[in-house]
Formats: sequence, C-alpha cells, structure tokens
Amino acid sequence: MIPYGRQFIDEDDIRAVTEVLRSDWLTTGPKVVEFEQAIADYVGAKYAVAVSSGTAALHCAMYAIGINPSDEVILSPITFAATANCVVYQGATPVFSDVEPDTLLLDPEQIESKITLNTRAITVVDYAGHPCDYDSLRKIADKNNLVLVADACHALGAEYKGKKVGFLADLNIFSFHPVKHITSGEGGMITTDNADYANRMRIFRNHGITRDPKCFSPLSSALRPPASDSSWFYEMVDLGYNYRITDFQCALGISQLRKLPKFLERRREIAALYDEALADIPGIEPLGLRADVLPAKQFALHAPRSRPSNHAYHLYVIRIDSNVLGIDRNSLFAKLQEKGIGVNVHYIPVHLHPFYREKYHTGAGLFPIAEAAYEQIISIPMFPGMTDADVEKVIKTMQTVIHHYRNGDC
Ligand SMILES: *Cc1c(COP(=O)(O)O)cnc(C)c1O
Repeated sequence: MIPYGRQFIDEDDIRAVTEVLRSDWLTTGPKVVEFEQAIADYVGAKYAVAVSSGTAALHCAMYAIGINPSDEVILSPITFAATANCVVYQGATPVFSDVEPDTLLLDPEQIESKITLNTRAITVVDYAGHPCDYDSLRKIADKNNLVLVADACHALGAEYKGKKVGFLADLNIFSFHPVKHITSGEGGMITTDNADYANRMRIFRNHGITRDPKCFSPLSSALRPPASDSSWFYEMVDLGYNYRITDFQCALGISQLRKLPKFLERRREIAALYDEALADIPGIEPLGLRADVLPAKQFALHAPRSRPSNHAYHLYVIRIDSNVLGIDRNSLFAKLQEKGIGVNVHYIPVHLHPFYREKYHTGAGLFPIAEAAYEQIISIPMFPGMTDADVEKVIKTMQTVIHHYRNGDC
C-alpha cells in the first residue's frame, strides 16, 4: 500500500534525537529555543513559539488574541476539525464561510457578509499547500479591525508573491505531525511578529505560569522573596495548559528542517508528474491554482526575482466529474484502496460533523461549494519519499480503474 502521506527519516535525524536522549535536557531545554529560532528564521517571522501539536498551537493563537465566549471567528469548513475546535476551546463561536470553487480556499468575497459586532478574527487555511490571497485577506481584516490567523499546517515552505507563508497573518500555525512537510513526531509552532502574542503563548503553554517579574501581579507581592533571592519564584497568572514540546522532538524538527528544501522540491516534482498525467484523463482534474501561483512544473524554471506564489503540495487533491467518468467518488476511492493506493479525503466539511450540527445548528445546505467539492475530492499519495515508480503506479492504477469503468467491466 502506498500511503497518502508519510514521514522521511534518515540517519541524521536519528543521530540528532539520540544525542538529546544522552544529554541533560529532555524537555524545555536548548533544542526548543533552537527549533523556534530556526523556524522563525526560515519563514522570516520575529518570534516562534513551539508547542506539543498543531492543535495546541491553534489553541495558543486563540488564547493570545483573547478570544472569549462572546466572540466569533470566521473560518473555512474545508479544514481539519482542529481549526474550528480551538475556537470552541475558548468558549467562542466558529462561523463558517464558503470556499472558492477552484482552489477550495476561504472565499474573500464572502467573508464580509459573515462579519458581525462579535467577530474578532478570521482563520484562513492554506489548503493543500496553496497560499491564500493574503493581500485581500489583510485588507478585509484591517478594514474591520479583525485579527488574521493562518492555519498554515499545510503550507510550510509555500510562498505568497515571493514571501514565505509564516508572517503574513498576525499568527501563523504549523504542525509537525508525520504527514506534514517536516515532523517532530507530534509538534506545532506559532510564528508571529507580535511580541505580546508570543509572550502570552509562552505563558499559556506552561500552565499560565511565568517567572518574568515584568508579568507578576501586585496581588502576590507579599509572597515574593527579595529580588536578589527570587530565581525560584513563579506565579500562575492565568489558566494555561501543559502544551510543552520535548527537546528530542525539537532536535528531530531541526534536523528535518535542513531537508525541507529537498522535500519541497520532491513534492513539486511529483505534483508536476501528476499534473501532466491528469491532463490526459478526462473527468479528473487537479484543484485550480490562483493566477499568481506557479504551476509545479515551472517551479524550477522561474526567475528568482519574479516573486511568484508557490504551492507547497502538502496534499495533491484531485476532483472527479462522475458524469464523465461514470463512477462516483466513493466507488473510485474504494477501487484505488483495493489496488494498494492509500487515498484519503480532505476533508469532511467541518460544519457537517455531528458535534457542530448539534452545538451550533449547522448542517447540509449551508455551504454549497464546500459540500459539492466534498463529494468530488480525493487526496492521492504525496510525500517526499515517493519514488518515480510509486508515482507511476498511482497514475497507472487510476488509468486502469477508470478505463475499466468506462468499458463497464467493474
Ligand atoms: C495537521 C493539521 C492540524 C492539526 O495539527 P496536529 O499537529 O495534528 O494537532 C490543524 N489544521 C490543519 C489544517 C492540519 O492539517
């Protein structure tokens, strides 16, 4: 079975982890700081805060901007549940808004109709690795005094008009789950240029505890030892969580980040092979690219100064037209699985999950573009360790299955 995504671990990664296991620091040590700095430098953000998962990172972001129960956050239904769940963790209301039909990114034109007096933030998702249109999103956010959050878990290494995803929103979230661009086993990171957000998240990931005298409350001044003797002293100034990440995870992350350019290059090569093969299969199409996003096969050729946008290809999502193919998504999915192609569906629109239907009275019919897309999409295998033979097998299998259906053999 060729899975839809898989980590790529080499001897350098293993060495990096075992070195930490032999050291004094298993958690909250120097590798955490080093990983944060490496990611901040890579994306070009001032601050990075490492936490135990992408989900924890999303929760930290909601906390940092002070999302509370009276607030609403606008987001796309085409995402992993965690993008919405983090709003609920803060007691607030996720407000879904429909996507663009070609890219399945949150449609900027529909966002404004969802804004109310309670709206505090917009969370966008660079779905599949396609960077959102940050210029138009920024305009909407600024005009309405909203915080712009990017769930960039698909988009480490993606570029928007020559700039890396990771500082274009006020808070930018990454995940290091094994299927993502780089892994730390489990892990997440928030990048931001805002010092206050970064500080709040560092406190939140550690139970709401601070050792920084600047953050201490006048309420506990009587408890505090004299400054000369206070290095052990800490205060819990708010309710936080244990969202810390370990040093050996961060050592893996640092080692993986060195390979990211190669990983991205390979993902784009695979995307170019798929693009080419799909052009010959009527009834199957890749998702659309916005005009400023370079097609995968042109990535290696573009002039470095031309400042295009670049897709990071976390996923390669195909869209099927069942009228042309004579089969629906579920049948094609089942056939591909049966023949060893580990396909997946990203995603079941979040507003259709029972939890959201029951708690927020969402349901079918609210977001027709997202719901129609859901019926048609399949994620086919995409990971840097795929060989050309693997890619060939995926393409050949799709061709064979479709050919059989056309001839009525299945
Ligand atoms: C992976 C992912 C997450 C959650 O990340 P974890 O590290 O698994 O918690 C959130 N949002 C999106 C879009 C993701 O792809």
